[in-house]
Amino acid sequence: MYFDPAETLARPELEKLQAERLRAVVKNAMTSPFYAERLKDFDPEDIRTAADITNLPFTTKDDLRGQYPYGLLTRPLDEFVRLHASSGTTGTPTAILYTQKDLDTWAELMARSMYAVGIRRSDVLQNLSGYGLFTGGLGIHYGSERLGCLTIPAGAGNTKRQIKLIRDFNVTAMHIIPSFALYFAAKVREEGYEPEDMPWKIALIGAEPHTEETRRRIEEMLHLKAYNSYGLSEMNGPGVAFECTEQNGMHVWEDSYIAEIIDPATGEHVPEGEIGELVMTTLTREGMPIIRYRTRDLTRFLPGECPCGRTGRRIDRIAGRADDMLILKGVNIYPMQIEQALMSMPEVGQNYLIELFREGYMDQLRVKVEIKDEYFVEDMRALQGLQKRIAARLCDEILVTPRVELVMHDSIPKAPGKAVRVMDLRDKE
Ligand code: ADP
Ligand code: ZN
Repeated sequence: MYFDPAETLARPELEKLQAERLRAVVKNAMTSPFYAERLKDFDPEDIRTAADITNLPFTTKDDLRGQYPYGLLTRPLDEFVRLHASSGTTGTPTAILYTQKDLDTWAELMARSMYAVGIRRSDVLQNLSGYGLFTGGLGIHYGSERLGCLTIPAGAGNTKRQIKLIRDFNVTAMHIIPSFALYFAAKVREEGYEPEDMPWKIALIGAEPHTEETRRRIEEMLHLKAYNSYGLSEMNGPGVAFECTEQNGMHVWEDSYIAEIIDPATGEHVPEGEIGELVMTTLTREGMPIIRYRTRDLTRFLPGECPCGRTGRRIDRIAGRADDMLILKGVNIYPMQIEQALMSMPEVGQNYLIELFREGYMDQLRVKVEIKDEYFVEDMRALQGLQKRIAARLCDEILVTPRVELVMHDSIPKAPGKAVRVMDLRDKE
C-alpha cells in the first residue's frame, strides 16, 4: 500500500521526528554564512517541539537572491554534485545545489509520490516536461527510475515524436504540465488518434496553478487519471506535496518538510482551514537547508484525515501566487478565478490570456478566450451572445466585467514551459 513507513506515522511520532530533525537542521544551517549571521542569537536547543519553529525567522526569495551563489551552503563545494534553478517565473532565478545524499533523498520522495497514485515498477513513464535547469525534468526522472519504471526523458515539445514513443513503448504514465496537457490532447486527436486507444492511464500534472475544472478536462480529453503534483526548486523540486488516489488535496511529506500557512501581512499562522501563504522548511536536505521559506503560494490545510491512511496533512490545490494577484477597480483578482469560470463553459477551448491595459486613466481587463471550432460559427448574433455570456460568467466570479475577445482554437501562442496567463500592456499601448 505504501512506499515508505514514514507516510503513515502516527501524528505524535511524526511530530517528535520533526522536532528532532528541525533541531539538527538549525544546527546544520548555522554552518552556512547566511544562517550563521541570521541565527546568531538563536540556540537550537530551545527547539523542543515542531511548533517551536515559529521562533525562527523567515527566509525570502530576496534572501536567496542576496546569497547567490554560495551563501546558503553548509558544505565545501566539492561535496555538491548538481545544480538546479527556479524557472524565474517571477524574476531573477535562484540556484539550488544538491549533494549526492540530497539527490538520493529527493529521488526517494519522488518515488514515494508516484507510488501514492498507483505507479509501479512495471509502468513505463514518459516525462514530457522540459529538462535542463527546471526541476520537473531530472526530479521526476530520477524518482521514476528509483521506483523502477522504464523512464523516457522525452522532454517538451515535438508532439509527433511524443506520440510515437508513447505508442511504441506502451507508456502507461506521463508527467506533463497542465497547460501543455490540454494542448497535447488536442494534438493527439489532430494526429488521428483516439485518446481511449492510447496505452496511458495516469498523468502527473503540476508545476503551475490550475483549477479542478482544468484537471477534469485533462482527464476527459486524454482519458486517464490526472494527479496534482506540487513542489518548488527551493524545496528540491517536485515531490513536496502530492495527491493520493483520493484526489482530494495533496499530502505534504511531513517527515521531510514542515509546512505552515501564514497571513502574508502579519506573518502569523492563519486559523486552521483558512487560505494563506505556504511557508516551508527542509528537514532532510544536508547541503543547502532552508528554514521557513516564504513560497508566495496561496493555499490552505484541508481538515480531517484522508481515507488512504497517510498521516501527512493535506494542502488544497494552489489558489495562485501572491505575485499574480491583479487589483482592478479596488477588487483583488486571481488568474485562477478566471480560469475556473472559463473552464466551466463547454464552448471554451484550451487556452486563454488575460491582458491588462490602460484606457484614459483607467486600468482595464481584457480576456482573450479560445473557442472550440464547433462553436466558432459565422452567425454574428450567436458569437455576440456567447461573448456576453462569458463576460457575465466572469463577472460573477471576479466582480468586474472584463472585455471578452473570442479567438480561434490554437491562436494564442503557447509558452514553451509554464503558461503565461497575464500580460501587462499598461505602459505599452
Ligand atoms: P518558479 O517560481 O520560477 O516558477 P519553480 O520552477 O521552482 O520556480 O516552480 C515552483 C513554483 O511553481 C511553485 O512555487 C508554484 O508557484 C508553482 N507550482 C508548482 N507546482 C504546482 C502545482 N501543483 N499547482 C500550482 N502551482 C504549482
Ligand atoms: Zn490520501
